[in-house]
Amino acid sequence: MRDLSKVLVIGGGGREHAIAWKCAQSPRVRQVFVAPGNAGTAFEPHTTNVDIAADDIDGLLAFAIREDIGLTIVGPEGPLVAGIVDAFTAAHRACFGPTRAAARLEGSKAYTKEFLKRHGIPTATYTTFTAANFDVDYVRTRRLPLVVKADGLAAGKGVVICTTHESAIEAAQAMLGGRFGKAGETIVIEEYLRGEEVSFIVIAHDSQVQALATSQDHKRRDDGDLGPNTGGMGAYSPAPLVTPALEARIMREVIEPTLEGLRRDGNPYVGFLYAGLMVSDDGTPNVIEFNCRLGDPETQPILMRLQSDFVELCDAALHGALDDVTPVWDTRAALGVVMAAGGYPEAYAKGDVITGLDAAARLPGKVFHAGTAQRGTDVVTAGGRVLCTVGLGQTVSAAKAEAYELVDAVHWNLVQYRRDIGHRAIAREDISSQQPV
Ligand code: AMP
Repeated sequence: MRDLSKVLVIGGGGREHAIAWKCAQSPRVRQVFVAPGNAGTAFEPHTTNVDIAADDIDGLLAFAIREDIGLTIVGPEGPLVAGIVDAFTAAHRACFGPTRAAARLEGSKAYTKEFLKRHGIPTATYTTFTAANFDVDYVRTRRLPLVVKADGLAAGKGVVICTTHESAIEAAQAMLGGRFGKAGETIVIEEYLRGEEVSFIVIAHDSQVQALATSQDHKRRDDGDLGPNTGGMGAYSPAPLVTPALEARIMREVIEPTLEGLRRDGNPYVGFLYAGLMVSDDGTPNVIEFNCRLGDPETQPILMRLQSDFVELCDAALHGALDDVTPVWDTRAALGVVMAAGGYPEAYAKGDVITGLDAAARLPGKVFHAGTAQRGTDVVTAGGRVLCTVGLGQTVSAAKAEAYELVDAVHWNLVQYRRDIGHRAIAREDISSQQPV
């Protein structure tokens, strides 16, 4: 048996707090290191923060060698796209995630659109442009709304939905003019898809694949799914929209052809693969985007429901033994509410003292930290998305009630959060409870 007594988790957000918390529950793990971690991971038992940035690949590898880490799990996309798995593998260190070549699925939207088209996987029709061939007249002939996207990683801000041709041209020219640096040197302009958005996450080793529990998140900042796009203001699992029939269709039409296409292209995929899908009225799962890692905040409710050993799952996937393990999920629903700093996703304050965490720790559910730091004995805000409170319950409504009890226990200056996380799932529960059984 491989020695998994020391695990390294890379990243410092809510997703990584949930990953580290779950890793620490594994009977095979003695110590979890988190680089760089946050105030939440600092307080978890058997867990130690390491002051190395998530993108310092050389520093992380040196630490993994020095501490003889048995398994490294990478949270964010940055280090994956930069090739952390390739660097660790070359040094014979186990690191779970896709190689740099496979991570292009998240790192380049132009590459991904071409990949999807070539392999016949459903997605919005599109055209790519650079500054050299940008065609204003072409844009003017397209049906509205139009979606303009920077090719590369732009911290979730590189997508603009435009309801007029002029605003689409303006957004395109801003990107091509350097608004996102190199990430915007190429842009994708695509058709606007209607339907309901679903996140579908699998763990994969080439053709071996297991779907994780289904989930859905809320990207808009304000209640009613209004206001600006964010990294995610809350999420829940399961997503009632994803029926077993739809799940089978997503596996058949999206996940399997993607893994097969990557294999044929010479970039076999190992790691978590997250498909952001727009399910149209006729049930077609159109790919909006791929992420080459777990989602944030979907990971928090998903891992609240995972009853089996997360470290063994990742280890099995890394070594091609995924067919030997079956993740076991709590049948209850989990729902997470993101508590964000006032002003997010635009400019926001940092350094505000967070109160009520001790009281929250005595309540059912779990508060995962994201942008938090320790200052003396205080825990202070240190990012846009600060906490994610997760509740469990027999229904999504019950999970929601537990999550908001935690929200109500915690406070800081200008905290903002949505009050309606899970509203679509809850509406579905209400409809199904009215139907005769
Ligand atoms: P992305 O970074 O590609 O996931 O885009 C961010 C968000 O923009 C998505 O989660 C969707 O809500 C929205 N979006 C992106 N592309 C489209 C599209 N073609 N049609 C409709 N909405 C889209």
